[in-house]
Amino acid sequence: FPLERIRNFSIIAHVDHGKSTLADRILEITGAIKADTKNKQVLDKLQVERERGITVKAQTASVTYRYEGKDYLLNLIDTPGHVDFTYEVSRSLSACQGVVLLVDANQGVQAQTVANFYLAFTNELAIIPVLNKIDLKNADPEAVKEQMFNLFEINPDDVLQVSAKLGLGVSDMLEAVIKGVPSPADRCNVEAPLRLLLFDSWFDKYKGVVCLVSVVDGCLTKGAQITSSQSGKSYEVKDLGILAPHEISTEELYTGQVGYFSANIRNTKEALVGDTFFLKGEACQPLSGFREAKPLVFAGVYPNDQTEHGQLKAAIERLCLNDRSVSVSVESSSALGQGWRLGFLGLLHMDVFNQRLEQEHGTQVIMTTPSVPYKVRLQGAKSIQQYQGEEVIINNPAHWPDPLNIVETSEPTVMGTIITPVTYLGDIIGLCQGRRGVQKTIRNIDQNRIIMHYYLPLNEIVVDFYDVLKSLSSGYATFDYEELGFELSYLVKLDILLNGHVIPELSTIVHTSKARTEGKRVVEKLKDTLPKQLFTIAVQAAVGGTILARANIKAMRKDVTAKCYGGDITRKMKLLKRQAEGKKKQMKMYDLDGNPFYITPDPILN
Ligand code: GDP
Ligand code: MG
Repeated sequence: FPLERIRNFSIIAHVDHGKSTLADRILEITGAIKADTKNKQVLDKLQVERERGITVKAQTASVTYRYEGKDYLLNLIDTPGHVDFTYEVSRSLSACQGVVLLVDANQGVQAQTVANFYLAFTNELAIIPVLNKIDLKNADPEAVKEQMFNLFEINPDDVLQVSAKLGLGVSDMLEAVIKGVPSPADRCNVEAPLRLLLFDSWFDKYKGVVCLVSVVDGCLTKGAQITSSQSGKSYEVKDLGILAPHEISTEELYTGQVGYFSANIRNTKEALVGDTFFLKGEACQPLSGFREAKPLVFAGVYPNDQTEHGQLKAAIERLCLNDRSVSVSVESSSALGQGWRLGFLGLLHMDVFNQRLEQEHGTQVIMTTPSVPYKVRLQGAKSIQQYQGEEVIINNPAHWPDPLNIVETSEPTVMGTIITPVTYLGDIIGLCQGRRGVQKTIRNIDQNRIIMHYYLPLNEIVVDFYDVLKSLSSGYATFDYEELGFELSYLVKLDILLNGHVIPELSTIVHTSKARTEGKRVVEKLKDTLPKQLFTIAVQAAVGGTILARANIKAMRKDVTAKCYGGDITRKMKLLKRQAEGKKKQMKMYDLDGNPFYITPDPILN
């Protein structure tokens, strides 16, 4: 294919607006798959994606389409729409020159539509605006066009209308892509020495790491010796080809093409997303890379039973091969034994990982309450005059340093985007204020919808914010966020004591202003949840040495053996954690629109 007849594009949309369905139609129209195939949502390969109807890993397909007597090569990249996976979206976009901005004609513009639009816009990509689901009887294309004009200054006349389900308007849309999205000719150079941009990779049992690349300059051939500009390591290309959407081996990948190669890379850590590869011995200017994904939510993961430790270790390692955005470190707890602290991009990411652990590896696990990373500046014991202390990141509340050594603390913050019908505005503002949110903007996007931006501390939204927002608004409000970085904040560790013993698994980090109310809440909850024992248990919440809340769990009945068990907190904790497994199931929920969301993991049991 000559460069002028290549189009690299992506479909971006809010979750459930129909990306995967539209991708299926495109594959059918171009003959890549049979129209009657039972395999719905061909690009959603993972079982968890099929089950939950969300796209987690970005997938790619190369198809051809005949337009005005000429064949065009269309490289389509399906992207995830959920807030946690913005990282996947942005790396997919780096291989594209344009996007189809898909909006449900019934639901209208939603929070992730806005986030995705700005990603495409700031990457200077051509944007083809498309309304989907126009077959629905509640579809209101005119109102949605008005929203798109108000928010993105998209001319209503430029908005295409399709029904991905029925296949209506999809050919017209492909023609709009061919006309509207520039070919990669400006960016690529056929004559120049080889440069490959690595934008995704996954692990294959037989081939090792498979790299998904965009050939920016030159041509990649089988057997070529290529070198990574990040590591300087060289590899021989064993196999290469295109995804259509299944792997089709070819001899060469030409300039402007998107395809895969494998080169006996055994460790996914050597296939860094954003890396540039070149021919061995022909070093060149690396292409501009990407921001690495930073985990924002951390949780301890433990086997149900220590005898399963080895099995769980292997399962986590295997899963991490295909999801490098998960960070892993070893951790241990007196109640739960040996485990790991895993870092995730967000709560849904965590939940999906957990579900994949169960599905793909048949392993049940115990997961602790999620926490965010905090930054703590310590007073070096010797350097008292200056704030030249050490700065540490705390991913586990149990590792919070002694307050006497702390100079200052910071917490991660985000800019949240909320879109909601006007009806729920008051409640949502109340929710945000209760979560230490600061409103930055508020405006109408049409007669009855509002968009707001809120500055929010991440730890206030990480557990149940999305969930509460959904229930306050009967499922209508949507939320997305962008990371802003660390801000100074007054933080303390809230400890929970049972019979005078701190239970490290129950410690949380809270803002000073919330320590007392949070302490009361947890104590009350524990009082109701902990099973009655043969003895009275004192439950206390404390910061430093100060007790902020207290309750007693009365004994079931008097018994002389009570004292024998009184101190054995560890055993009880284990039992509690066992129950967590049952509770965890409730995390996977769908709202009225079929959007997946999650309910609060019980802070006590998890
Ligand atoms: P994604 O999350 O953006 O990938 O959305 P999906 O492709 O999974 O679609 C979400 C839901 O919308 C599915 O139940 C689809 O069957 C449905 N859907 C997609 N496109 C259309 C359409 O054009 N019309 C109607 N009525 N439903 C659609
Ligand atoms: Mg999908």
